[in-house]
Amino acid sequence: MNVLFVASECAPFVKTGGLADVIGAVPKALAPLGVSVKIMMPAYPAVAKMLSQGTVLQKISDLHGGEARLVEVQAEGLDLLLLDAPHLFDRPGNIYLGPDGNDWSDNHLRFGALSLIASRVAIEGVGGWKPDLVHAHDWQAGLIPAYLHQTKKQTPPCILTIHNVAFQGLFDAGVGSVLGLSDALFTPEGTEYHGRLGFLKAGIAFSDMITTVSPTYARELLLPEYGMGLQGLLQARKANLTGILNGIDLDVWNPANDPALVESYTAATLSKKAANRAEIEKRFALSPNPDAPLFCVISRLTTQKGLDLLIETLPGLVGRGGRLAVLGSGEKWIEASFIGAAHQFRGSVGVIIGYDEALSHLLQGGSDAILVPSRFEPCGLTQLYGLRYGTIPVVARTGGLADTIIDANAAALEAECATGIQFAPVTAAALDSAIDRTCDLFKQPDVWDKIVRRAMSHPVGWDRSASAYLDLYKHVESMPEK
Ligand code: ADP
Repeated sequence: MNVLFVASECAPFVKTGGLADVIGAVPKALAPLGVSVKIMMPAYPAVAKMLSQGTVLQKISDLHGGEARLVEVQAEGLDLLLLDAPHLFDRPGNIYLGPDGNDWSDNHLRFGALSLIASRVAIEGVGGWKPDLVHAHDWQAGLIPAYLHQTKKQTPPCILTIHNVAFQGLFDAGVGSVLGLSDALFTPEGTEYHGRLGFLKAGIAFSDMITTVSPTYARELLLPEYGMGLQGLLQARKANLTGILNGIDLDVWNPANDPALVESYTAATLSKKAANRAEIEKRFALSPNPDAPLFCVISRLTTQKGLDLLIETLPGLVGRGGRLAVLGSGEKWIEASFIGAAHQFRGSVGVIIGYDEALSHLLQGGSDAILVPSRFEPCGLTQLYGLRYGTIPVVARTGGLADTIIDANAAALEAECATGIQFAPVTAAALDSAIDRTCDLFKQPDVWDKIVRRAMSHPVGWDRSASAYLDLYKHVESMPEK
């Protein structure tokens, strides 16, 4: 089966969040199941250097004001279809934001172009290859089902995966005609979102199936608190909405063989974690305290991630002897609060503002626990990396966090199935008591050790979810044409 993935990022080439990890991992997990995936993505500068090794499959003379090419490149075990359109994608810095920190003003053209060319490949194929179905990811690929819907030609089915409904790609109504979308699609049941045009909304309205990245988030999306205004349409499409849990790439995230660690380790050599912990203490200017856990955060620093709540609970964390290392960037006031906390709690709280892939591995390898206090979390990946590295996840009970961590309550400890700590509601008080529980468990080395080993043996790879995607693909292929 041939599948065309379409996404705006893909690890290890271009990554701003979990979407990239998923796009870089799923095709490898699907390959042994007989699914051949090509990933279409923009040729940003970070990938453009690979263009010269690729094969030009198509030239496009005018794509929203400039020339473009589709270039096929094989790299890192992935088959990439790079949309080389320098006028749209050859820009330094963040792939979504201009130098002023705001969205690029032509993001509708940039990702509209990605969707348009992907829909043409879906219909006509390219370089002798034709997809049996299209798998579009997030708002940047959300117009594909709309383009497929409005053509008179025969089209393959299209699945949309929502990785985070908070990012919807909303633009002025007028962009529809610029992008060649039929006016007839601009209705509340179609692409219109309160007078604006929504890329994600278009995807939800016109795709054959919609998936999201955990079963709990699939249910939450139907509620006003989580649906971000799309809950009505999602309710209407409920029969075609399903949640498939994300996994992680077990080769990239492997504590037994991780070049970013000072010492690699397995469940049988856990004491080697200490060398990584010492390196973290050095890098984050933390004073060692073996009697309390070293917590870490690896995250976008946003209110979605609940990190404002963590700031409120720092006196409690530090008062219990805990240490905290924070790696991230995001909302300026949260960054500033953590920097302030690192001064106030010198030696107990350390902060590095920025994005550093290798350091994120070291934090997983040397910390005792990872904090994920998200207000909502479609799946979350850092808690899965935490399980794999024996770095106990302390998570809010929401979305994929609820689906992947088994809380160390009395019953779960008794039944020997606990893999982390969950808390609800998502408040500073509940987070504080979760941190308290973590510190208590840490003081009981036998109990803690068992949780760590169990966490490390918890299945977090893609096997099960890759099969679920294959089943879904077969189901969609067998659906009657709309
Ligand atoms: P989201 O996609 O909502 O940001 P996820 O937990 O799904 O959250 O994925 C985040 C991914 O980005 C993880 O792979 C995490 O390790 C990585 N990440 C987040 N912030 C940083 C950072 N500052 N440096 C390195 N990696 C980061």
